[in-house]
Amino acid sequence: MTTTVAAYAAPAARARLARTTVTRRAVGEHDVLIDIAFVGICHSDIHQVREGWGTAIFPMVPGHEIAGVVAARGPGVAAFAVGDRVGVGCMVDSCRVCPNCRAGLEQYCSDGPVWTYNAVGRDGQPTYGGYSQKIVVDENYVVRIPDALPLDVAAPLLCAGITTYSPLRHWHAGPGRTVAVVGLGGLGHLGVQLAHALGARVTVLSQSLRKKDDGLRLGADHYHATADPATFEELAGAFDLVLNTVSAPLDFGAYFALLRTDGALVNLGLPEDPVHLELQSLNGNRRSLSSSGLGGIAETQEMLDFCAEHGVAAEIETIRADQADEAYERVLRSDVRYRFVIDTATL
Ligand code: NAP
Ligand code: ZN
Ligand code: ZN
Repeated sequence: MTTTVAAYAAPAARARLARTTVTRRAVGEHDVLIDIAFVGICHSDIHQVREGWGTAIFPMVPGHEIAGVVAARGPGVAAFAVGDRVGVGCMVDSCRVCPNCRAGLEQYCSDGPVWTYNAVGRDGQPTYGGYSQKIVVDENYVVRIPDALPLDVAAPLLCAGITTYSPLRHWHAGPGRTVAVVGLGGLGHLGVQLAHALGARVTVLSQSLRKKDDGLRLGADHYHATADPATFEELAGAFDLVLNTVSAPLDFGAYFALLRTDGALVNLGLPEDPVHLELQSLNGNRRSLSSSGLGGIAETQEMLDFCAEHGVAAEIETIRADQADEAYERVLRSDVRYRFVIDTATL
């Protein structure tokens, strides 16, 4: 039996979000039906609603930072029971047989993962995200939210958390390593907490010193303003790893110079416009420019367990669904401390 539930959707590119309904598929053999409690607003929602990354599918129900409770399950579901606290991130399916899927890198599925929204599922139907009351997801793409993490502050971990955790682990952030996080927004404020919890020395590079107190409280050892040219002189060659979380094009050349020998600048931000690369400062000292996307399902579970153990969670501003457009405007102005989360009871 299908379920029709309230949702918020953009009817067309750049249109305001409006209340609507979506119909969720009947709970299949390996599916769980989730009562969504909270959903985070990721900057990627804004890029997609505005078609900043190219043609998108409308109506669009955004939302891929989903936290809720299992309300029903299919007869073949082994991992979850009704009442379990669960999360869903950016993907709801993948091919499961390609080398990346087999290696737990479902986000790099060579057949393309099925994104939680703005995509077409393997059943040929469009996917609709978490700005809605319920969602049906295959249990293999659902993770368990530990009891120590309240659902509202856990929701942003499903995208912003895993997107920063995965590169921190891959590039060995830990004791004796220096990490810079560029941009103290949704991704950035979790990147700082996670890098600190992993034992690295952490520096925030923000446009101004406006959020310095927060950055230090979240675990940064140092905090610098990128608007001040002295920052780049002072920090030349200082970092093993620079994580760029900025949603707009960055002057990468200036940041390459901050890397020490064999250091890596890992790009996470996905701006809508192309960037200009000044490569001379990358060439010295065998520096590298790389990228990272999200994280696999098992790694997402590992990240949630790590957060529960180390007291890492998002700092949030909880809003009603009808405040989402206003929240988008504030995110675009970098006026967010540090993630907007929609209480789905207001749908
Ligand atoms: P966000 O909350 O808006 O944070 C971005 C931060 O970048 C802002 O808080 C601001 O920090 C800084 N910033 C914004 N505009 C800037 C500008 N013009 N110049 C310099 N700094 C600027 O966004 P988010 O949700 O963290 O997402 C960040 C980006 O990552 C987005 O492009 C998103 O689509 C992308 N993303 C990528 C992945 C992936 O898998 N790679 C996953 C999720 C999101 P300060 O005020 O501190 O400077
Ligand atoms: Zn996201
Ligand atoms: Zn695959």
